[in-house]
Amino acid sequence: MEASKNGLRGRIGNLPVKKFLEARMNDKKIDTDIVWAPWMRIMLHGADCLVTPSEPVEEFNSDLTELALDMGRTMYAAGGIGLAAPQVGHNVRLIAVDCSPDQDDIQYLVNPEIVSYDGHTNGDEGCLSFPGLSLTVRRHKNIEVKAQNLKGEEIRISAGGLLSICIQHEIDHLDGITFIQRVSRQVRRANMRKWEPMKILEVQNGDY
Ligand SMILES: [Zn+2]
Repeated sequence: MEASKNGLRGRIGNLPVKKFLEARMNDKKIDTDIVWAPWMRIMLHGADCLVTPSEPVEEFNSDLTELALDMGRTMYAAGGIGLAAPQVGHNVRLIAVDCSPDQDDIQYLVNPEIVSYDGHTNGDEGCLSFPGLSLTVRRHKNIEVKAQNLKGEEIRISAGGLLSICIQHEIDHLDGITFIQRVSRQVRRANMRKWEPMKILEVQNGDY
């Protein structure tokens, strides 16, 4: 994948994006022999990979780890709290989520599945593949998720609040579903007419 110079522009908090990411790398003591792959591009609405159902991950190797870590960096750089592999052009069942207040608790979920849920909630959601678009989406309130970590070990997560919403949003991406499909046709049409991604991207100087 082609590196994007523009991807490293901008600031997160008081730090330039590059410094922020380096600091995170040091904090997390990520192995230095994992290659810092070329910057990823986040695919926008209209890309085929966003409407293609993703394949389960079967091999838990260094390629998977590299993809996951790169997704994490990309997510933070773009100011996201969740990112699914299809959004960076990989149709595999892998998501990254971090809804912690300080954005210091990233979780990589491989082959995630919602095994139980209760209640419902309506929350405002955004999506890195639809910059600037916000929609109120109805979701399960609480969920229990079965997934695997990057080593292939089974993990279980009970999630409520924002994390629950975020995981449901990202699992949808793995099924080729984006949040515009979770609102009524009327709401979707009204919002898509107003949505001006190119203008927003220009303002952000980006190509991210
Ligand atoms: Zn999304």
